[in-house]
Amino acid sequence: MKFIPSVTALCSFAALVSLGRGAASTGSPFYGDPPNQTHPWAVHDQNRPQPSLVAPGTFSTARQPGQPPSDAIVLFDGTAASLNKWESDTKEGMPNAPTKWIVSDSAMECVPKSGYIRTKEKFGDCQLHVEWAAPKNVLGDSQGRGNSGIFPMGLFEVQVLDNYNNPTYADGFAASVYGVNPPLANALRPPGEFQVIDLIFRRPVYRAGKLVDPGYITVFCNGVLVQDHTPLEGPTGHMKRPGLQSVPDQGPLKLQDHGNPVRFRNIWYRPLPPRSVEGGTDGVLTAEATTAKRQQIAAGIRRDAAKLAGTAQMLRLAESLVYEKDGATYARVEEMVTAYVAGLKALPSAQREPQKNDAKTVLRALKYLAKFEIMPAGFAATKTLDQVVQAQGWDKEKK
Ligand code: MG
Repeated sequence: MKFIPSVTALCSFAALVSLGRGAASTGSPFYGDPPNQTHPWAVHDQNRPQPSLVAPGTFSTARQPGQPPSDAIVLFDGTAASLNKWESDTKEGMPNAPTKWIVSDSAMECVPKSGYIRTKEKFGDCQLHVEWAAPKNVLGDSQGRGNSGIFPMGLFEVQVLDNYNNPTYADGFAASVYGVNPPLANALRPPGEFQVIDLIFRRPVYRAGKLVDPGYITVFCNGVLVQDHTPLEGPTGHMKRPGLQSVPDQGPLKLQDHGNPVRFRNIWYRPLPPRSVEGGTDGVLTAEATTAKRQQIAAGIRRDAAKLAGTAQMLRLAESLVYEKDGATYARVEEMVTAYVAGLKALPSAQREPQKNDAKTVLRALKYLAKFEIMPAGFAATKTLDQVVQAQGWDKEKK
């Protein structure tokens, strides 16, 4: 029996032929393993947001401070004006007071006995950059030589100490997490020279009074790894272990007055995105967070599909099913695919050639959806399309 294509099938098909999307390729849909119960994104997911752009700064040397990256929040840049970002670390309930530390030779210097200082700004998880120099005039020994401290959130001390030819107890060494963990190495320059500290701080996270993440500190001293994702054990103590305890989400950065005129320069930080335990959407998530994120991604794709037409819209809607099997969308995709395949099949063989790439793309999508049980393997349109592609010999082509 000779098949005469129905007008309806051809009209539907005409409406479904592809419209190019024109955007730069960030990958292909229907490619890597799909989202699962703890990963809202597919592997190599083209929908995953591009990383934000940051213009890198320059590296510091002992003599010359480098430039911070473009998105850094600068806390001290060597000017007296930037000292205004700091204040004296007055006790809770006491009025704020300006710091008595001084700026000289583009560095901020501790005035012994004037007290700790803190930033006016409060922040939590961060990449923190600090440069410090112990006095060139070497006085004292052990903990009495060039002692200060870097306290993210005002609570956790990363030790500042002149340990150049100056032993002390290991968990109080320069770049130790004080009282908790010695540095992996002593990578200090001589006193008087600036030490470059890069620190990644993750605060402890509690939810409903329960610890869900102890927090971590990673530190590089002069480019040498000295703290490798060291778990926090609570706020810093002296001669004791205060233990893990709930802390606020933010606090000021504090610098210690330990009675030595230690100098600081080039202090900046970059806030870090939330971890998965606190609502971040990268990494392994809870089932609830994954489902919520998958629904959000699917909704975004459906909104994008609404701006498209033809095969492009059909494929985009099908793509949304990878994240969320929304009933109405599923029905619409079934309907569109059925119409598309019927239209293609209705064309005489010679007229199918211009549709080759689209047809192969649709078949690949349908096979992906079947492989991951998003659409049934026995879906009639998939079988029909597979037959058409084979009949045309398109399946034999490499591309
Ligand atoms: Mg100290």
